[in-house]
Amino acid sequence: MTNIYHITHHVHDNSIYVFFQGCNFQCKGCILKQLIWDCHLKDDIQRELQAINDLRKLSLDEFKIIVKGLNVKRAVLGEGEPTLDKELPNIISMLNALNVKTHLLTNGYILDKKFIEKLEKAGLSSTYVSIKAYDNDTHRFYTGQTNEPVLDNFKLLSKSRIELMAESVLIPGLIEQDEIERIARFIASIDSSIPYRIDGFIPIHDASWKVSSQEDVIKASKTAKKHLKNVRYMHSKIKVKGDVINIYPKMKGR
Ligand code: SF4
Repeated sequence: MTNIYHITHHVHDNSIYVFFQGCNFQCKGCILKQLIWDCHLKDDIQRELQAINDLRKLSLDEFKIIVKGLNVKRAVLGEGEPTLDKELPNIISMLNALNVKTHLLTNGYILDKKFIEKLEKAGLSSTYVSIKAYDNDTHRFYTGQTNEPVLDNFKLLSKSRIELMAESVLIPGLIEQDEIERIARFIASIDSSIPYRIDGFIPIHDASWKVSSQEDVIKASKTAKKHLKNVRYMHSKIKVKGDVINIYPKMKGR
C-alpha cells in the first residue's frame, strides 16, 4: 500500500499532482491543515471532496492503472511528505517505466545519502526541497523540527544526479526579506545556479500571519537574485493556468 490518497490532473502541462498522507513536520501555516485536497480545484469539487470521510489510500497497482489511463508526461510527487512512503522508489520506477518524468517536492528531512541513492537508482528526475528557514530557532518554531538534516541533505542532493531546486515561503512577520537572503546565501554557497522559488504566504484559518503582498514577494526575489542566478516567485495574484481535474478519489456521478 502507498500513502497516496489524492490525484489531480493539471491540463496545461499534462501533469498529475500526487498527494501523500502524513508529514514529519507540523508547519504552522501548512495549507493541508485547512484543505487536504488540491486547492486549485473548483470550489464545488472541493466541497464534494470535503464530504468524503473514508479516505482510502491506493496500492501501487491501483495507482499504476490510474496513471496508464491518463497518458500524462509528468508527475509531481508532493503535498504531504512523499519521502515517508516506503513505496516511493517503486512509485518512481513504475512512473519511469511508463515514460512519466518524476518531480519530488519534499522538506528533505530524511533524504540522507542512502535514500538519495535509492531515488537516483529509481530514476527520479528532479527534486524541490522546501527550505522553511535558515535560522534554526525560526525553523523549530515553524515546523517543530531542527533544520540541520534539511541543510545537510540539501548539500548531499547537490552532489547527486537528481536535478536540485529549492523553495521557500515568504511569511510576513516570520520569514522576512533577511531570512530569504540567508537562505539564498546558503544555496549560493553550494552552487549559485541552483534554481530558487519564493512563494508568497497564503494564510490558513488558525495562522496569525497575513498574506504576502505582491510587492514583498518581488522584493524578496530581487534580494535572492543578489546571490543566485535563477530566482522565480509565486504569489496569490498569479493564477494557475488551465483546468485542474480531480482524478482520485472518484466522486459519484463524475
Ligand atoms: S512540510 Fe509541507 S506538508 Fe509537511 S507540514 Fe510543512 S507545509 Fe505541510
